[in-house]
Amino acid sequence: MRRVLAAAIAALTVSTAGAVAAGAPGHAAARSGWGRPAAAPAAPGPGSPGLGDSYFPDYGNGGYDVDHYDIRLRYEPATDQLSGTTTILARATQDLTRFNLDFVLGVQSVKVNNYPAGFAREGAHELVVTAPRPIVSGQSLTIVVQYAGVPSQTRVDGWTGWTKTTDGALAVNEPESAWWWYPSNDHPSDKATWDVSVSVPTGVEVVSNGVQPRPPLAEPGNRTRWGWRSATPGATYLAFLAIGDYDIVTDTAPNGLPVVNAYSTTLGSLGPAARASIERTAEIVDWESGIFGPYPFEAQGGVAAPANSIGFALETQTRSVYGSGFWRRGSNTYVVVHENAHQWFGDSVSVADWSQIWLNEGFASYAEWLWSEEQGEGTAQEWFDFTYASYPADDGFWQVPPGDPGANNVFDDAVYDRGAMTLHQLRLAVGDAAFFRILPAWTAAHRHGNGTIAQFQALAEQVSGKDLDALFTTWLFTKGRPELTAGGSAARAAAPAAPVKPKSWAKVHEAHELLH
Ligand SMILES: [Zn+2]
Repeated sequence: MRRVLAAAIAALTVSTAGAVAAGAPGHAAARSGWGRPAAAPAAPGPGSPGLGDSYFPDYGNGGYDVDHYDIRLRYEPATDQLSGTTTILARATQDLTRFNLDFVLGVQSVKVNNYPAGFAREGAHELVVTAPRPIVSGQSLTIVVQYAGVPSQTRVDGWTGWTKTTDGALAVNEPESAWWWYPSNDHPSDKATWDVSVSVPTGVEVVSNGVQPRPPLAEPGNRTRWGWRSATPGATYLAFLAIGDYDIVTDTAPNGLPVVNAYSTTLGSLGPAARASIERTAEIVDWESGIFGPYPFEAQGGVAAPANSIGFALETQTRSVYGSGFWRRGSNTYVVVHENAHQWFGDSVSVADWSQIWLNEGFASYAEWLWSEEQGEGTAQEWFDFTYASYPADDGFWQVPPGDPGANNVFDDAVYDRGAMTLHQLRLAVGDAAFFRILPAWTAAHRHGNGTIAQFQALAEQVSGKDLDALFTTWLFTKGRPELTAGGSAARAAAPAAPVKPKSWAKVHEAHELLH
């Protein structure tokens, strides 16, 4: 319990100090009979340019909280020209003279509650908006940003998160993705719902998250406007666009939800393996629901990206996007299991700070071990033993602690493999009955919100009645290969002399080579 307690004390100290500092003018006000509450608001000032994330401090912005993005775009696949208007519905959380959005395309105008606002660029991805009238804490804000640009040629540090494909584009990346197509408060701690509509030349498909509130509409000039709606709040990086030539397959899942899968027509001979994998999404989501708790979103599906476009997969909300590399050696359900596990771990329960990425990748990786067990292709225990043995004690792998891997190691092997090993150690320590109560309790407690590792440990301790501090400290936060006695069960005090290689080893590794 030490870590949790330490965090609680730290929080207490900060809030006490804050109350003292902010209290002085408040008390004065109360004495002078203004009748205002003791915690007087600070003088109006600029919203902070970041949310103080410990890895990416300037991601997101302070001073407001977004409820909804209405993203209305026009796209030309031939030239990668993107233009549009995003309307942001937000609420001020402090008195503001100015605030920032995260965005990199060229901005033509900004309006705040219908008044033209000043705007300027700052840093790599900040759009600074000057309030045309004073903004007071609690006020509703309607922010309308008009913009245009060529996202594939709009570089930040020489790089773009927007992928131009032969027939369109993909807006799919983590954690930087929104900057190139809609202005936002780009941090998973500010979740919002969103509507996306994109006008493209007729014959081109547009796929995004959630459901289609209406069929595609014909527009003048031989164009079609596609619309998608995400009615469940999500993190900004989990919104996506796939524009191009896609075969769209729709169905209804056993849980009654709409399924929308989309397959790039450029996949050629990889197409059948993509379909043989992604078409099993509903079955996999159903199986995962039995372990993780009720599926958290309004729709499901997957998108098979064009050949040679992206070299990874991403758990974009309700509809994961898969690079073509996953199908090179045939079908692969493990990557479908991984990405859909993220719908619970990452999408519904999101990190509050990017240092907590284990809460996403450790769990999605452990889901693959559970699927292997379910398929009779190697148990989670066999996976643990073989993984443990495959990294010698002096391997650099053990030098990255998955609970705080560092900003440059967010997608390191250790976050995935040692991350999954940590969950297996937890399972051994608390027993199957408690372990399989902890997982749905976690997804229920933080559904459509954010969670921290300290909160997960506290929940696991509460459900199991065990002190798990040594286990979490050793497996998540300490460099070096843990001894198997550390926090684990006595029954697994040592690794077997010759661990069995799980049958699913090659398939899972094939997926992981691309995922990391
Ligand atoms: Zn993942």
